[in-house]
Amino acid sequence: MMSLRLPSIDGVLRHPACVPLLERHGRESLLAGLRQLLDELRPGVLNGQLSAVEISPEVLAGRVSERLVQQQRSHVRRVFNLTGTVLHTNLGRALLPDEAIEAVQMAARYPLNLEFDLASGKRGDRDDLIEGLIRELTGAEAVTVVNNNAAAVLLTLNSLGARKEGIISRGELIEIGGAFRIPDIMARAGVRLHEVGTTNRTHARDYEAAINPRSGLIMRVHASNYSIEGFTARVPTAELVELAHRHGLPLLEDLGSGSLLDLTRWGLPAEPTVRQALLDGADIVTFSGDKLLGGPQAGLIVGRKELIAKIKKNPLKRALRVDKLTLAALEAVLGLYRDPDRLAERLPSLRLLTRPQADIFAQASRLQPLLAEILGSVWQVSAVEALGMIGSGSQPVARLPSAALCMRPQVSKRLRGRCLLNLEAALRALPIPVLGRIDDDALWLDLRQLDDEPAWLAQLPQLQVDP
Ligand SMILES: *Cc1c(COP(=O)(O)O)cnc(C)c1O
Repeated sequence: MMSLRLPSIDGVLRHPACVPLLERHGRESLLAGLRQLLDELRPGVLNGQLSAVEISPEVLAGRVSERLVQQQRSHVRRVFNLTGTVLHTNLGRALLPDEAIEAVQMAARYPLNLEFDLASGKRGDRDDLIEGLIRELTGAEAVTVVNNNAAAVLLTLNSLGARKEGIISRGELIEIGGAFRIPDIMARAGVRLHEVGTTNRTHARDYEAAINPRSGLIMRVHASNYSIEGFTARVPTAELVELAHRHGLPLLEDLGSGSLLDLTRWGLPAEPTVRQALLDGADIVTFSGDKLLGGPQAGLIVGRKELIAKIKKNPLKRALRVDKLTLAALEAVLGLYRDPDRLAERLPSLRLLTRPQADIFAQASRLQPLLAEILGSVWQVSAVEALGMIGSGSQPVARLPSAALCMRPQVSKRLRGRCLLNLEAALRALPIPVLGRIDDDALWLDLRQLDDEPAWLAQLPQLQVDP
């Protein structure tokens, strides 16, 4: 028997099957891919385990092509967020409105006046690009913007309280996901933590008793991602401000989500607004750009002019500053807040948060038979009412009345868990991965955020669930 020989790399490269691959991937990538493939096949050829067809240039070109496509696929992938959590931190939080996307494109494509004052022709400050809007929308005297709210808290604490004591209630020593803990951030900011009161009750007299010559500031943190109920007491901001100012201390309020408008106007749970915190007298208020605000990831620090000036002078500001794309998007989003009447149409996060349950339920009922047919008899598919969440630590207890496609495997209890995981994996393996949640022996796809129904439907026939 004649022994087979692997074709040479050059031989394969010159084959017509490789012409489109050269065009698409370039010579270098194609060579590397081919070399790797041939190395892997060599032992099989020597052992006589491979047939002539398996090492023909056509088959080799096909296999290399598959690999190169796989390798070159972007790691940043669009997904369908059908988890029921609207501002999902792991899925990128707020979606930007068209106005912001256009602004980002402009800022990405062209030079811009990022730190250049066009009126005077002199050097400018990037915060000036949004200062006017922020002042108008919040009543703040001044603003500075950094990478995210965690950075805003760190920078503010370090600028105003380093080597001094920061007084804070025990009930507000919170942890936010991703290892952001107020006591740790305080320590990193060089502020000595002086905790007062108890977990559930803190009184004005507790703060009063803590004030001493080493005190540098009083901090208040909005307990965004949990709630304490029952026998509780907390000092109203206005009263705490009065106490802080009597002792010459600034009051910082970390609002977390920090809404710019009263959300109850859209039937959403009440969140403290930035304007109200400033009206209550907080000297500095910090909040996120990509939570309820509905903009890009950013941390906004607003408040008294002389304190903001001090914060801006901190060398850490340079390390934490935002880039031009963020500022462009942020300005566009803030601009939409000038017209609150149309905000819910124009700002995607608010539009999704306020989508009526009846509307979502109608969509679920429409899609139910299509999904049922594709999944077959093993799965019971129903359109049901469901409860979603705002997410990102906003209103952890509040639920958004929504609707979902609920898929229950019709198998013995023993097999149910595996069945659900297989379906979950199959949905994740679609060209645009579909993410739902498993709960109560079923897989739920909350449709509140299923905007692009055609794209979702188009890929459904590709669903391949392992039995
Ligand atoms: C979310 C949150 C932060 C962190 O904000 P990021 O923008 O995620 O960095 C800080 N404080 C509070 C109270 C929060 O809710």
